[in-house]
Amino acid sequence: MQAEFIRAQARKDRRPIHVIWMTSGLGCDGDSISMTAATNPSLEDLLRGCMPGMPPLIMYNPMFAYETGEDFMRPWHEAAAGRLDPFILVLEGSVPNEDVNGEGHWAALGCDPDTGEPITTSTWIDRLVPKAAALLAMGTCAAYGGIPAMRNNPTGAMGLRDYLGAGAESHLGIPVINLPGCPVQPDNVTQTLLSLVLQIAGMGPALDLDEQGRPVRIFGRTVHEICDRAGLAENGKFSSEYGDGRCMVKLGCKGPVVKCNVPVRGWVNGIGGCPNVGGICMACTMPGFPDAYVPFMDSDRAAKAYATTARVSYGPIVRFLRAQRMRHDLDVEPRWRRRASELTSGYQRHW
Ligand code: SF4
Ligand code: SF4
Ligand code: SF4
Repeated sequence: MQAEFIRAQARKDRRPIHVIWMTSGLGCDGDSISMTAATNPSLEDLLRGCMPGMPPLIMYNPMFAYETGEDFMRPWHEAAAGRLDPFILVLEGSVPNEDVNGEGHWAALGCDPDTGEPITTSTWIDRLVPKAAALLAMGTCAAYGGIPAMRNNPTGAMGLRDYLGAGAESHLGIPVINLPGCPVQPDNVTQTLLSLVLQIAGMGPALDLDEQGRPVRIFGRTVHEICDRAGLAENGKFSSEYGDGRCMVKLGCKGPVVKCNVPVRGWVNGIGGCPNVGGICMACTMPGFPDAYVPFMDSDRAAKAYATTARVSYGPIVRFLRAQRMRHDLDVEPRWRRRASELTSGYQRHW
């Protein structure tokens, strides 16, 4: 009921939808920086309203704010008090475990006006989550823990969903959305924000999420399936060193087992993106990143077996058969297309 009411109001009044973007998890701010490279839609498109009827979007992000001090913190307090409605809560960086912080704290944003004490990131999450229309874990750190949550880390870092518990959702009933990447591909950021704005405004469908909370539209295929070197791999052509333009699975590329759309989406305006430009996929979008994939530059046994099989058996056979067909049928003009005293096209003359 409440959800319907908010959607109806947002539609009717074109009330702004706010984005409270916390970069105070354990992270590097790389996802905020990445977003500035988006082109489809761009950040400016989002803020100006790139679709007719779309509600205005107002973003509060420490990286882009002119305000400082209490002026900067005001929207956070307003949101926690339920006076900034509706808003999307974006968390960038992983959530540290403040139960194991000794005598200090791991991460905080702003100070309590009464006590002057820092307000920890997890306190902000506790305050803001019940009021948020949607919850977006931005980047692999926020989604699954990422680099700060590596084995032997001292902070007990975890992803937002791990912190909130399984089945956590916003007050509109939207589950936590995980948007992994280290950093997230720029257009994936803006596209997901746009989808959420439209959903909250009642102008678009809900995002289809997989079991790891990722949008299926973005993470439905592996890097290998969409890599522009996949055809070379199929033909058994593998690089033994960087720079020769062939498939890099023997150099450690994890693409065959990684879900990510970067090879088809590129990085900036369709250009670049990991294997497209000669870099191995290091699996930065995956829940097991980085522990399950180190050392990054080594290929594992499965990758070596795949490369060997493709190189010495399947690849050469496929290559040979295709080359034969191309030589005889496909890469030559049909034999009747030449000057001759007889018609050789097979046409039956009627004159
Ligand atoms: Fe930085 Fe990567 Fe973590 Fe994003 S996911 S905050 S880019 S370390
Ligand atoms: Fe697959 Fe990586 Fe080779 Fe591309 S470079 S085809 S992703 S193994
Ligand atoms: Fe990360 Fe691999 Fe995607 Fe590149 S292709 S962004 S390394 S998951």
